[in-house]
Amino acid sequence: MSTEFNATSAFRALQGGVSAAPKVSPIRAAAFDDVREAVGKRLSQGTPGAMAAVADAFAIAERLWGEIRTTPAFVLGAKPAGCKKGCGWCCHQRVGATAVEVLYIAGQLRARPEAAPLLARLDAWDSGRPCVFLVDDACAIYDLRPLKCRGLYQMDARWCMTTYAKLDPPLFGPPLSHDYQTQPKDVFDGAVFGLAQPFYAAGHDCPGVDFIPALKAVIHRPEAVEEWWRGKEVFPAATRLHDWFPPMEKGKGKKKRG
Ligand code: SF4
Ligand code: SF4
Repeated sequence: MSTEFNATSAFRALQGGVSAAPKVSPIRAAAFDDVREAVGKRLSQGTPGAMAAVADAFAIAERLWGEIRTTPAFVLGAKPAGCKKGCGWCCHQRVGATAVEVLYIAGQLRARPEAAPLLARLDAWDSGRPCVFLVDDACAIYDLRPLKCRGLYQMDARWCMTTYAKLDPPLFGPPLSHDYQTQPKDVFDGAVFGLAQPFYAAGHDCPGVDFIPALKAVIHRPEAVEEWWRGKEVFPAATRLHDWFPPMEKGKGKKKRG
């Protein structure tokens, strides 16, 4: 029987300095611990360290997932994924990312001259449309995509089509299946929490936000990183995802206002 991970209780326990989060699957715990440790080492480096911490989190989680998916047990035992290039139904849903991921991705995109057309698409994007980075049914920022995007591993793309893109169910074929592989979700969700927790512990609000509207708010504002670091709200309140992490508790960390 798989163990259910209660992300909110785990996060709250860790926010309060309790080391034993309840009922954490070993894979989530490994991703959480590895990412949290790496991010913690970056915090003394200010905003450059915060941005480097996101790159660390991406690399650590990808490495862990790479190790898992190449084990004989996974290769021989996992069901084939419906996921492949050209299948982008999941990119029709609202995408979540941590605040620090959004600031990092914005900085990376600003630094890439070849990303100029993507920035123009972002400026023209309106809510209710699929992710702006879904181009020709593929992710145009694959190496930069948020952790949440990386953990998807659905078996039945038709389920994604009807659920995320709200298209009519197919008239023939087997019943739709919501079946998914748990390990990538465990890895990347563990990494999400391992990334956010040290920022919270140090007094930097790092909520989950609605990725595209949040990115749109900061894409032309490089100064937003420093503002966020000093405690200023840089994302519109409406982009905050209240079901991700509990609100920062008063008295935790050393939040500065700037
Ligand atoms: S999660 Fe679903 S829509 Fe996304 S790539 Fe996988 S099968 Fe396709
Ligand atoms: S960032 Fe890429 S993977 Fe994530 S929703 Fe957008 S297009 Fe899809």
